[in-house]
Amino acid sequence: MSVTLDLETAATAVSSYPAPGLIGLTRAKMAKQLSEDFSLTPKQAKMRTSQLFQWLYNHGVTDFEHMTNVSKGLRASLTQRYGQLSETARPEIIERQVSTDGTRKYLLRFAPGIEAECVFIPDVGRSGALCVSSQVGCTLNCTFCHTGTQLLVRNLTPAEIVGQVLVVKDDIEEWPSTEHGRQLTNIVFMGMGEPLYNLNNVSDAIEIISDNEGISISRRRITVSTSGIVPQMHALGAQTQAMLAISLHATNDDLRNILVPINKKYPLDQLLQACRDYPGVSNARRITFEYVMLKGVNDTKAEARKLVSLLKGIPAKINLIPFNPWPGAPYSCSDWEAIEEFADIVNRAGYASPIRRPRGRDIAAACGQLKTQSVKKRASVRRNEATVEL
Ligand code: SAH
Ligand code: SF4
Repeated sequence: MSVTLDLETAATAVSSYPAPGLIGLTRAKMAKQLSEDFSLTPKQAKMRTSQLFQWLYNHGVTDFEHMTNVSKGLRASLTQRYGQLSETARPEIIERQVSTDGTRKYLLRFAPGIEAECVFIPDVGRSGALCVSSQVGCTLNCTFCHTGTQLLVRNLTPAEIVGQVLVVKDDIEEWPSTEHGRQLTNIVFMGMGEPLYNLNNVSDAIEIISDNEGISISRRRITVSTSGIVPQMHALGAQTQAMLAISLHATNDDLRNILVPINKKYPLDQLLQACRDYPGVSNARRITFEYVMLKGVNDTKAEARKLVSLLKGIPAKINLIPFNPWPGAPYSCSDWEAIEEFADIVNRAGYASPIRRPRGRDIAAACGQLKTQSVKKRASVRRNEATVEL
């Protein structure tokens, strides 16, 4: 095929300057990269991109050599240009824990010192959500959140966000992506970090994950959770068409200022207005409001009623989250009775209000904890080594 020949000839002239990998490039960016690297016409680049998307994200290959409908010469050129996929396409798994309830938690290393978690939560039947991280640590300091206590922060790149999905799909052996009966059906940006402080990378990752020649998880099954970065909310909807979740947790500004301090900058009235204005919001595309149940802090019946009145007019579902304790946390989880009473009031007002079942409690509790445990473990190993050396 002439396209292949063009590529092969061009590839021999490619210089060896450090090249970006292909993972994490949206279709448009990959086509641009290929056409620059191999002097392709736009049509050729589009066709190659399509092939590569299928191999990388539908079949999950980790070796250009396995791309059987790509000529041998081109496969070699791709390897020469972008390196061994097996070394560049996946983050390293530092720790993997599997709970008795099927929950799988991973600590991944993207680069030296750059580690983040993701958690796969299988549901009843053949469906399941993967909770991905968007940043290493978080710059916000929600007082109930363990990630908020971690200092190191950097945005994860689109490749690093997509890499979390690839690693988990490898682990649950879910290739090709487009087959029926998949276990990984939903993606939630509820791991470490504030996704709206990394909007462009999150947006590219969503474009790749939802591509229907690739991983093929529809945008309606991708939910981005935010603590309420109001100025970015409209752009999130416009750029990604993802479902929106808001970490609400309080029904008045005084309490929310404490629990979710970014509320001082973007108070409740602004946040709720941004929800009403969220692109595409409707009864079929409702906003999820997350409400963590903190004993004696935000869990009274009066607060349940206030919550209902606050959300009037917004197509919403309310997700009640039992607080997930972590060592040194200044809160404890509400009693089960209080949670059920709270849920009842919200339910009777016509809102779906599932209580999120605690999952994976036996492996590591709150998000961010696996990372801390691992850092501590390594610190103690280092201490022991130091002792030996001394
Ligand atoms: N930064 C984003 C997304 C990551 S946090 C946000 O705040 O929305 C994902 C969800 O987990 C949020 O609703 C957050 O409030 C909740 N969360 C954090 N720590 C928790 C804990 N210890 N127990 C229960 N929920 C927690
Ligand atoms: Fe950051 Fe979200 Fe945790 Fe708040 S709840 S500290 S925004 S990760």
